[in-house]
Amino acid sequence: MTDLTEFEAPTTLGDYLKRRREFCRISIGEVAHLMAGLASSPQLARGFAEQIEQLETSGQCRVNLASLLHGLRIAFRFDPAIALQFAQRDPDNPDLPMPAICRVCACSWADPCTDRSGSPCGWATADLCTSCAEQRS
Ligand SMILES: [Zn+2]
Ligand SMILES: [Zn+2]
Repeated sequence: MTDLTEFEAPTTLGDYLKRRREFCRISIGEVAHLMAGLASSPQLARGFAEQIEQLETSGQCRVNLASLLHGLRIAFRFDPAIALQFAQRDPDNPDLPMPAICRVCACSWADPCTDRSGSPCGWATADLCTSCAEQRS
């Protein structure tokens, strides 16, 4: 049984991507390797790994964010619309509503997880999806 109280919803782009990556059980190294593709050189993969680490820790990236997000989607599932909502949040306006995601797994309407019966999750409460809610039982 997972203790859901330890989970707080991600509040930044970096937190969001990290949460999705962790729930897809893939390491940064594995993501970078997939992004580098068949023609992978260790150097290319290392470069991707650095970009991902920087994005997860600071929310910043030196490269074009859209193309980095595009690459990340090769490796794990997340909702690019939610990622862009986080990216566009105004730090001077922290009271603006947060993107609608599950506070545990950070899934969203366009990127649902699968519950025990194999159907896409829905909302159990305003910030908790049905498949995370059923882990409690
Ligand atoms: Zn969830
Ligand atoms: Zn879900």
